[in-house]
Amino acid sequence: MIIEEIRKIAEDAHVPVWGISPASEMANELPGHRPEDLLPGVQSLICFGMPVPRAVYRMPTYAVETIWRSQNLHYRRLDTLSIRIATLLEESGAHAVPTYGCMPLGMNKKGVIVGYLNQIRMGEVTGIGIIGKNGLLLHSQYGARLMLGGLLTTAVLPEMHYPDIKEPGCPPNCRICVEVCPAHAILPDKKQVKIMRCLGYTARTPAMSRIKFLVLRAFNPQAAARYMSLTSFDEHTFHVCSQCVALCPYGEHK
Ligand code: SF4
Ligand code: SF4
Repeated sequence: MIIEEIRKIAEDAHVPVWGISPASEMANELPGHRPEDLLPGVQSLICFGMPVPRAVYRMPTYAVETIWRSQNLHYRRLDTLSIRIATLLEESGAHAVPTYGCMPLGMNKKGVIVGYLNQIRMGEVTGIGIIGKNGLLLHSQYGARLMLGGLLTTAVLPEMHYPDIKEPGCPPNCRICVEVCPAHAILPDKKQVKIMRCLGYTARTPAMSRIKFLVLRAFNPQAAARYMSLTSFDEHTFHVCSQCVALCPYGEHK
């Protein structure tokens, strides 16, 4: 019954991909960033994705601005959906918390800016994609362009993902993302991005004092993360580089 209601909400919101998995699939995340750390008694993860059109990333002019606007619109839709489904689950007797798409942010013990829960990993364990060498979630139809939202719940839900696609992952010889990254931030063997190096290159946050952020990070990491969330939220951050998304050919030639 609850699954049918979630399916209906996803359909009405034109969410093309979504999945559910047991929360135990992410039990090995770093302490402080495991599902159980965010919701005691958690049983299930729900994750969903919406794509930014491929052509937006390849616009000859105004790409940066159009990506910025497209992503900000999607974050609002994804976050609204997360809280809507969380409320629905609560009305059915479970507990649920949204895991928002971009912000607010946390900081791990190494002083690295992170989301409360690794949403890309969440996308992988819920079966809606596979992590690529660029550290992003890849999908056969939407490439690396899916933006993700989700939630955690104490409800025991059946494992499922829609649509039912088995992703092959990156072609062994492809290194396009690694070679185009101007910051040399991509670690293809680990399927990770050095996030602070990437952000240092690409992020423009005029409302945030970098000096104040660095001082806070040294003495009070939680305050630094909150300061960044307040001053960089959504449209307050501009990314001048999206090359690892724009040029990723995954799913392009079918
Ligand atoms: S966004 Fe740009 S700087 Fe960051 S990892 Fe991708 S290509 Fe590198
Ligand atoms: S550019 Fe190639 S190697 Fe990089 S994520 Fe896309 S398919 Fe994988």
